[in-house]
Amino acid sequence: MSAEVEKVLIIGSGPAGLTAAVYAARANLNPLCIEGLVVGGIPGGQLMITTEVENYPGFPEGIKGPEMMQKFRDQAERFKTRFVTQDVDRVDFSSKPFGVWADGKEYRAQTVIISTGASAKWLGLENEQKLQNKGVSACATCDGFFFRNQDVCVVGGGDTAMEEALYLAGLCKSVTVIHRRDTLRASQIMQARAKAHEKISFIWDTEVVDVLDVEAGTVNGLKLRNLKTGEETLHPTEGLFVAIGHVPNSQVFKGILDQDELGYLVTKPGTVETNIPGVYACGDVQDKLWRQAVTAAGTGCMAAMSAERWIAEEEFKGA
Ligand code: NDP
Repeated sequence: MSAEVEKVLIIGSGPAGLTAAVYAARANLNPLCIEGLVVGGIPGGQLMITTEVENYPGFPEGIKGPEMMQKFRDQAERFKTRFVTQDVDRVDFSSKPFGVWADGKEYRAQTVIISTGASAKWLGLENEQKLQNKGVSACATCDGFFFRNQDVCVVGGGDTAMEEALYLAGLCKSVTVIHRRDTLRASQIMQARAKAHEKISFIWDTEVVDVLDVEAGTVNGLKLRNLKTGEETLHPTEGLFVAIGHVPNSQVFKGILDQDELGYLVTKPGTVETNIPGVYACGDVQDKLWRQAVTAAGTGCMAAMSAERWIAEEEFKGA
């Protein structure tokens, strides 16, 4: 075995991973954080593609997502966390020290903290994929700028959809929210803001069945189906923003760590312990219920403290 053995290896650099890094670094565990690029091709997780964070305690005026993540990272670096910017493509937790591979390089560690988060879900339409970055997006803050003064659509009825619609309304000529039911899932305050905005309108009980126009190489319309009447219509638009929820980034742990039916990593109740002692999961990859930056950070703290205790116990046993 060639790789040096780390005490704590953290996979992922959202609020969970970076909080784990701060705690592990301050406990003198010299953590290595492999910060992946799964969300939007940049490290830092979902907050990197979020506009305003208004509910993270300590920021009474609110803070931009990327700015907040920079602060998290600065704090982790202040205590000498080391970073590698790569996606992990394989792990082996069958023997110790645990093995992690990223871009062909092998890493070995006494403990592993998994904080790989979750990613945006897509509708699953063939042309949606073909027109990605050509008018189809899952991130208004990343791509909204390209649709200034244009007519765009947002699919979804949750807080993300309302947030995307409100952000786009500040840039675009019009925003049409297309939702498959006639009531929104979003919080009352977000619903009220979106419904009150003069540039935002709603199409209810409707799904997107196709995105046009692959031949033109750009989005110029959507084929919609009313789920109550079955009627199909063409809706002209220049952009489609998909905001229908998330899936956990847990593919690489399939068959190795216990997962639920949706792919979320399973942790023992009240802990961040996976089915393999010494391997911890924190943040959105193990949480389909709360999914908040502050809860992710809390579980990141739990993971680092658990790793610290486990290392101490192992060292005591081996002494
Ligand atoms: P949600 O799961 O809350 O909402 C997803 C929405 O997309 C639902 O309205 C759902 O419809 C719809 N949907 C799902 N799959 C499909 C599909 N295949 N076709 C069409 N529509 C579909 O996800 P969000 O990302 O909106 O929010 C996740 C969590 O993050 C929530 O807890 C939310 O409160 C929180 N959040 C908070 C924010 C804030 O406070 N600023 C901002 C963003 C998120 P249906 O309703 O019919 O199920």
